[in-house]
Formats: sequence, structure tokens, C-alpha cells
Amino acid sequence: MSSITGNPNSHPISEFTDRLTGNCLCESVKVTIKDPDLFTRRRGHICHCANCRKVSGSFAASNLVIEEDKVEILDREGTLSKFVDTQTGSGTPLERWFCSRCGNPVKSVTPVLAGKVVMKMGLFPRIPAPEFETFALHRHEWQGIHPDVDQYKIKAFGEKL
Ligand SMILES: [Zn+2]
Ligand SMILES: [Zn+2]
Repeated sequence: MSSITGNPNSHPISEFTDRLTGNCLCESVKVTIKDPDLFTRRRGHICHCANCRKVSGSFAASNLVIEEDKVEILDREGTLSKFVDTQTGSGTPLERWFCSRCGNPVKSVTPVLAGKVVMKMGLFPRIPAPEFETFALHRHEWQGIHPDVDQYKIKAFGEKL
């Protein structure tokens, strides 16, 4: 339980030169992302869409789209479960995987991103600096802005804010 306070400064980037490992809150589901460049450049994104908010229980979600063969998930106590979300912008159903014991979101899987998964980064002791924000139009006025992060009004790589 060394990461219980969630202070990223107690986990220097040098710990994550080739992989990043995290657990769900009840520690049943263990997730490892094997990628040497998680902290060498900006990665992942912040999403302000309504579905991400609900699933994260927060004003935004921290996501990382990555090749599925770079992700290893250990479901130690068989608690990994999924909800099929049909209320998606694309109209294509999306699987939202989570720990059914503690409720921790783990990943999203959609055929729109073939061969890739969307990892829910709250699992991890340190989160890479985001590259961009999606649904930035929906940001709350009190949130503040990350000046070095690309702001897409709605979809990734669509119209910028
Ligand atoms: Zn759990
Ligand atoms: Zn979203």
C-alpha cells in the first residue's frame, strides 16, 4: 500500500522507464502498461464528455489510448467486469471495464479504435502529462486551462477551441 497517499513525487519517473503498473482500489485488478515512452513526451488526454465524467465520478477523466498488446491486466480475484455503453457519440457501443468490487474504472474498448484500448489513468501511481483535451467546450469555468495541452472542442483531432 505504498502509493496510498497518491503523491506522484514519491514515485519518480525513473521507476517507469519501460512500464507503469497500478492497481484498482481493492487491489484485485493489476494493470501494467509496457511502453518506454510514457514519460518522455506528453501522452494521453483529459476528457470532459458526460460519459467519462460519470464513470470517473469527477469533472473530467484522465485517459490514455494505447495498443492493446502493450497492456497486461491481471484479474487476481475475478472481479473485472464490463458495462456496454450504448450512449456514445459515434453510436457504436463501447465496453467500459471496471472492478466490480471496488468500482474502479479500468479501461474502455471500442471497435472505433481497433487494436487499441483506452486506459483509465487514475489506476496508476503517476500519470503522464496529457497531450490534449477532448470535449474542452464542456469544461467548467472554474477548472483552469493547461496552456501546453491542445484543446479540441469535441472530438480528438477535430476542431480546436
Ligand atoms: Zn477493485
Ligand atoms: Zn470522454
